[in-house]
Amino acid sequence: MTTKSSILEVQNLRTWLSVGEGLVRAVNGVSFAVGRGETFALLGESGCGKSMTALSIARLLPDAGKILSGTVRLDGQDLLQLPESAMREVRGARIGMIFQEPGTSLNPVMTVGAQIGEVLLQHTTLRGSAAEARILELLDAVGLPDPKSRLREFPFQLSGGMKQRVMIAIALACEPRLLIADEPTTALDVTIQSQVLDLLRDLQRKMGMSILLITHDLGVVSEMAHHVAVMYAGEIVESARRDDFFRNPAHPYSQKLFASMPNRQLRDRTLAVISGRVPSLIGEIHGCRFAERCDFASPLCREADPSWFDIGNDHGVRCHLYGDKSWAKDVTQTRTTVAAPAACGPLHPGTDGELLTVDDLKVYFPVRKGILKRVVGHVKAVDGVSLKVRAGRTLALVGESGSGKTTVGKGIVQLLPLSGGRVNFDGTDLASLSASELRGRRRDFQIIFQDPYSSLNPRMRVLDIVEEGMIALGVGGDRRTRAARVDEILGQVGLGAEMKYRYPHEFSGGQRQRIAIARALAVEPKLIVCDEPTSALDVSVQAQILNLLRDLQSRLCIAYLFITHNMSVVEYLADEVAVMYLGKIVEQGSADEVLGNPRHAYTRALLAAVPRINVVNKREAVAPG
Ligand code: SF4
Repeated sequence: MTTKSSILEVQNLRTWLSVGEGLVRAVNGVSFAVGRGETFALLGESGCGKSMTALSIARLLPDAGKILSGTVRLDGQDLLQLPESAMREVRGARIGMIFQEPGTSLNPVMTVGAQIGEVLLQHTTLRGSAAEARILELLDAVGLPDPKSRLREFPFQLSGGMKQRVMIAIALACEPRLLIADEPTTALDVTIQSQVLDLLRDLQRKMGMSILLITHDLGVVSEMAHHVAVMYAGEIVESARRDDFFRNPAHPYSQKLFASMPNRQLRDRTLAVISGRVPSLIGEIHGCRFAERCDFASPLCREADPSWFDIGNDHGVRCHLYGDKSWAKDVTQTRTTVAAPAACGPLHPGTDGELLTVDDLKVYFPVRKGILKRVVGHVKAVDGVSLKVRAGRTLALVGESGSGKTTVGKGIVQLLPLSGGRVNFDGTDLASLSASELRGRRRDFQIIFQDPYSSLNPRMRVLDIVEEGMIALGVGGDRRTRAARVDEILGQVGLGAEMKYRYPHEFSGGQRQRIAIARALAVEPKLIVCDEPTSALDVSVQAQILNLLRDLQSRLCIAYLFITHNMSVVEYLADEVAVMYLGKIVEQGSADEVLGNPRHAYTRALLAAVPRINVVNKREAVAPG
């Protein structure tokens, strides 16, 4: 692999984790080098071993983890040979670290100033007013507004973006040579993500530090990285300079990752999916780890581990396809066209073709104070929202966290009391219905939530989960007919009928989301409110769910109100788009209009903040020093 003037050289790193069922070979012979002043991205989906690699470098593994072999040289010094006391000096002083969740990485009972001061106390000679001046300088450098008053605030008083800025200030307090950033913006909104990425690039330029960036997001890689290494099942399967990687991804897995990303150009196509699952890393694996999911697997792939092949221009790949120099081979993924939508049945007279018309919707939450909990004001979470969704079409409701999107979704399906406005669904004002009348209509509109882990009852079998709504709403006939219908629905969402006797914990995230979709479909709804249904999923699993939603829409004429902050999903899926900001709709129209010619400043800011995959990037990466 790469040999260059590097600040960090990792050679043949092996890290195993001891779990109940055996030893997980989480990092299996990983080698790479990070150049001075360079951003090196380690890219991969969840469970591929990228975070374990970072934790091994910093020697911060959980108790169950053990580094078996390898070297980790920082400026030529092997960190794996240092005693723990020396390693404590390295962390913070020479290696800074930021993690995904600033909320959990910060100490909740220490002020911002005290947390940064602690690092200075440990690694520098700065004390008293000199230390405070340095803390203020750091808070100013990371762009925290009003640093003087922030100094005495606690993490709970800060927003997510501000917390991540404090984390960056802590990581950079001692001007480390290397910053390890593990999914630093994954938990943040897209505009805050853009600010944090800009900040990192700016600080990198000023301080000349190197960044090991760990991410699953190809857009972030495209914006930030000079060099990319793709990890799959504990191994690096491809390594290349950024431009070369985005122009010519060589490994079949990398190509599938690109092909499974939704975008505007693919609107009438299905997305490529990576079938099957990542292999269990418990025990020895023979042959290529991607073989079970690869369209090009040959008998050789299942028998022999692929070697590392250098394909020129600092680009390497671990795949048998490149062994006979046939790497010009066309491994482009095929996609099918999405079927034309089915003709939808007639709507109630007077609905003007709109299945759902929301008019001046208001949801206010009371603010209470004092012992008597008197109402002293209201939070206007949704303040006068009007929307229309046509039968068999998709309206995307976009905006950042806290904008009120989820509250709109819950208000529409009457899971929250409305403070005002009307929700007209197929000729009926839902807000005017009594509880029993509403129950009778519930089969027509369903909701799918973001987190497939918490939205399914862990004590119920899949059969009971899917059947529950049918029984409650009197859909599906007698027990036998219902059971047959459950089998059919599971088939529709791509799950086998034999899976109905299993419990949720036996399924992957993508499969659980399919169960949630099956539960919604079981009552044959006309409208599904999808609240960020793919945001907790990897891009390859997201592709499966998006394909499924589009397929169901074209076959069953279901309308979707798709709540999301992911603009590429919107580009791929939406017919109409409504943009929400602070409880109000600031722009709405056809997807082509809103995305192609945004009028409102907020829409423009939102679209500009989305990291794009460009070979020549809109924000050119900092030239490595
Ligand atoms: Fe596919 Fe074989 Fe290459 Fe593995 S070695 S990625 S199975 S072609």
